[in-house]
Amino acid sequence: MVDFDEFVVMKEGFLKKLNIAIDRIIEEKQSMNLDYDFIEKILKSMIKNKNVNNSDVLVVAPIDRSQLLSITLDFFNSIDPEFYKKTIEIILQQNNDIKMNMYNIHEVSDFKTRDENDFVEHTPYGVVQTRNGQALVNIPTRTELRGEEEKIINKKDCTLEDLYTVVHEIAHLFDLNLDISKPTKNEIAGEKETYEDNIARELTGEATTIAFEGLLSDYLLKNTAYPKAAIQQISNKRINSCLQKARIVYSRLLLAREKNERGEITLDFIEKLMKDYNLSIQDVRYMASSIINSPKDMLMQNRYAIGGLIAPTIIKTYKTKRFRGNKKIFRRSQKMRLKISIKTNWNTTK
Ligand SMILES: [Zn+2]
Repeated sequence: MVDFDEFVVMKEGFLKKLNIAIDRIIEEKQSMNLDYDFIEKILKSMIKNKNVNNSDVLVVAPIDRSQLLSITLDFFNSIDPEFYKKTIEIILQQNNDIKMNMYNIHEVSDFKTRDENDFVEHTPYGVVQTRNGQALVNIPTRTELRGEEEKIINKKDCTLEDLYTVVHEIAHLFDLNLDISKPTKNEIAGEKETYEDNIARELTGEATTIAFEGLLSDYLLKNTAYPKAAIQQISNKRINSCLQKARIVYSRLLLAREKNERGEITLDFIEKLMKDYNLSIQDVRYMASSIINSPKDMLMQNRYAIGGLIAPTIIKTYKTKRFRGNKKIFRRSQKMRLKISIKTNWNTTK
């Protein structure tokens, strides 16, 4: 049931702001001419999957830092020796264009410091920053550890979840590498990257990384002795985070539709959304604040929702080897069918 006290707190100016912000989204939607019906449809089928089990007790599996890097290498090698080659370059800092920055999140406080490329040197989340052919990969470790847990495990240790962050961020480089070092098809043809190309890349930017996370879970279960419960828990947590974003994106589309059709979003409608799509108060707050204040958060939610939709196809393709073009699929997730479906509906005049 909805906690009405919580809602009262949100009500102060919240609905008004939300209604105004939604108008902005509707305008944007119209100018972009994206096939939102299609996106709505596929997201709806995705979020029909309720959360996979999220257990309350976190199983922390400590893992030595060098062990973590060696598993990362073995894992990428098991998929493709080319990925191994690239990863070792990155880890050993042999590629002058890519810097990897791994740090204990509990030991840094300078989240705003920028280097000569204007990259933020420490970020609270894993991120790849790129500019002018240069990339900085930030990998904070132990992010999931709180209080006592942080003290208990050896200072030198990372956790199994950190391994997922490392694999995720390095997987971004398999996409970005091409983007930063090789000219795109348009550039070769002497054309500029179109807005349409960039949006497609943004929207599909997490597909490869999420697929690699899924493959990592399989790899760990098969090849290591880490507790199955820990692997399962991390995997579930990450899938749930994806599903949560998909529900938020989907609900946002429904909010825009409602505003368009009825002229106003009411509290009743939000309550209905929460009930129908299993959203918590926190989810609604997060959705509302990103609609009102943060287009960047909205983009991130889109990326994870769409990425989560494409990832299973990448994994399946890899496993069944129905295509000989596995590498191609991994390199440019935006070549996936979903992107084509999305892309063909973009209005190129913008
Ligand atoms: Zn990512």
